[in-house]
Amino acid sequence: MSHDIAAEIRRLHSELPEGVRLVAVSKFHPAEAIREAYDAGQRLFGESRVNELLEKEAVLPSDIKWHFIGHLQTNKVRRLVGKVAMIESIDTERLLELVDAESRRAGVVTRVLMQVHVAREETKFGFSADELLDYFSRHAYRNLTNTHICGVMGMASNTDDTDRVRADFKAIADIFGEVHRICGDELCGFDVISMGMSGDWPIAVAEGSNLVRVGTAIFGERQYT
Ligand SMILES: *Cc1c(COP(=O)(O)O)cnc(C)c1O
Repeated sequence: MSHDIAAEIRRLHSELPEGVRLVAVSKFHPAEAIREAYDAGQRLFGESRVNELLEKEAVLPSDIKWHFIGHLQTNKVRRLVGKVAMIESIDTERLLELVDAESRRAGVVTRVLMQVHVAREETKFGFSADELLDYFSRHAYRNLTNTHICGVMGMASNTDDTDRVRADFKAIADIFGEVHRICGDELCGFDVISMGMSGDWPIAVAEGSNLVRVGTAIFGERQYT
């Protein structure tokens, strides 16, 4: 526990260019660690499990904005809606429709990102480029009443090959641009490109990211036990 969380938060904020926001990914770290980051000025936190997010949300300051960044099971949507500033990990049309229905039921508007899958790993969640462009070409989002699609989220391949990583981030940014081309002004407020983690955020920012999700570099290694 020798990690100086406050110093890492300050260092990241000084290194990130103007206009790039930081999500401090606090999954698997205790509320006290989040409190340290909060006291250093951080207000935006990312969690990947619903129960964990709700437990922390209940005991931490109410001006924290929570982003959900993990795979969201449909049976947990109802509990999450209304508690989060953004769901970054919409990975199917069915999940999106469910978030919309539950948001309508709760009388809230939920801000979301569409997760795109470009990395080599077989198991990663997300829309393929084709699936996502198809969704926007059909203008299916016109049926949403209580969901605001704010942009895209994606991950690069987990590799030391920085050319590969750069190509993956460029692919995500290209998909974002293509959605803009398809939908024009109709998608107002579609302006978030969430990409970049502890090991690769500088490359992501160079390729157009304006929201980075950094965990390990702030809080240290996660204890999964
Ligand atoms: C865990 C996680 C991160 C943070 O990864 P680090 O390597 O610890 O910075 C970012 N994005 C998503 C979607 C994650 O699940």
